[in-house]
Amino acid sequence: MISRCEICDSFTKDVYICKLCGRKVCKEHYDETKSICLVCAVTLCQLCGKRLARGNCAVCGKLVCSACSIKVGAGLVCKRCLQTGQK
Ligand SMILES: [Zn+2]
Ligand SMILES: [Zn+2]
Ligand SMILES: [Zn+2]
Ligand SMILES: [Zn+2]
Repeated sequence: MISRCEICDSFTKDVYICKLCGRKVCKEHYDETKSICLVCAVTLCQLCGKRLARGNCAVCGKLVCSACSIKVGAGLVCKRCLQTGQK
């Protein structure tokens, strides 16, 4: 079955479906080790690598998801920075 990649808009017969966003993508835009598309791969939490990030940590700048970060004021601080920054 020929389908269109939703990222590059080209037709491909090897269609992969991202398990996070449900996009249909070509092999080039799919990360087979994580079963997600490359759009999700760049917005993935850099701590757990499982969920979509919701923002950058104000301390280290890492992309972190809601489970791996805590809201501090207007920004986010990741759990790793909270652990190392507090005594
Ligand atoms: Zn593509
Ligand atoms: Zn995706
Ligand atoms: Zn996370
Ligand atoms: Zn951090």
